[in-house]
Amino acid sequence: MPRITQRLAASFAALVVAAGVFAALPVGVVRPAAASPQAAARSFGGARGLLDAQPSLTRIISAELRAADDSQQLFASAFSAAPDLLAQLPDRPFWIDGSGPRLRGELIAQTERLDIYVGIGTFSPEQIAALAPQLEQILRDNEYWYGQRLSHRVSLGFFRPAAAEINGARGIAYTDHDRAEVYFAGGEDIDRALVVTAHELAHHLEKERFGNEAQKRADTILHEGLATWITGGRWLAMVGASTWQERGQQLRDAGVPLRLATAEQYGANNAYELWASFVHYLLRFYGWEKFDTLYASGRSRYPGSADYQGVYGKSLNELADEWRAWLNS
Ligand SMILES: [Zn+2]
Repeated sequence: MPRITQRLAASFAALVVAAGVFAALPVGVVRPAAASPQAAARSFGGARGLLDAQPSLTRIISAELRAADDSQQLFASAFSAAPDLLAQLPDRPFWIDGSGPRLRGELIAQTERLDIYVGIGTFSPEQIAALAPQLEQILRDNEYWYGQRLSHRVSLGFFRPAAAEINGARGIAYTDHDRAEVYFAGGEDIDRALVVTAHELAHHLEKERFGNEAQKRADTILHEGLATWITGGRWLAMVGASTWQERGQQLRDAGVPLRLATAEQYGANNAYELWASFVHYLLRFYGWEKFDTLYASGRSRYPGSADYQGVYGKSLNELADEWRAWLNS
């Protein structure tokens, strides 16, 4: 199966860019300040429904459009979210008033928590508007998988690949500006774009859990591994696996070395998936509390920067040995 994207050049010396298909916010890159919300986005009244005053802009209530909420079923299908945090999740998506930051392109839909924009040279506004309930559902599924709720609106934009600020990136999460962008050409596989979307929205849930500062200095293994893990069944379905253990075994059998710190040498997607498998191992055998402490202990994007020894009493290498043994069991 062709990779979703090209691999990006890593820049660990500068500790700014997590190489890969799905780049999260690079530290130290200057961002334009969020513009005022578009006037159209402020013009909504209280009633939920289609807006006739803004014919190109559809306000969508996903909960009312879904035939069935399969989130719980998805959650129950695998070892998953932190139970205490899961208890905070409401039964239905909730509407957050206001608007996310203004993006370029056209604002075409609002869901409960997402402002959805489309640029030129990518999927059509009609395609994306039709997918809007599914985009909210992706966020919803992420929340169930992870047990972390998004508390603010996020602007999500679809743009052509050349529009990416990081060459070759298919998605970028600007977590300190409440926006996420996905880069695909119009003729490309929209299902893959949805998996990228899930990954970028997952970075926003990471930020929700740990705060912006901790996320910015998070160890890449944990930062990208967790965001990939949060997408759960959606990513696994794309690669034809049912669990992260199975996916690790598939990569091993395909000849990908089971090395964590240097995983990106063998392709960004391979790296993200190995890291997700490792994150799953840590969660499965050591629990959430230690994992959260580990994530927050990161000192930079450098792979291995987190304090594995201090949190687990074992080095990254020792934990990786355990993970490899688990894959080989
Ligand atoms: Zn990412």
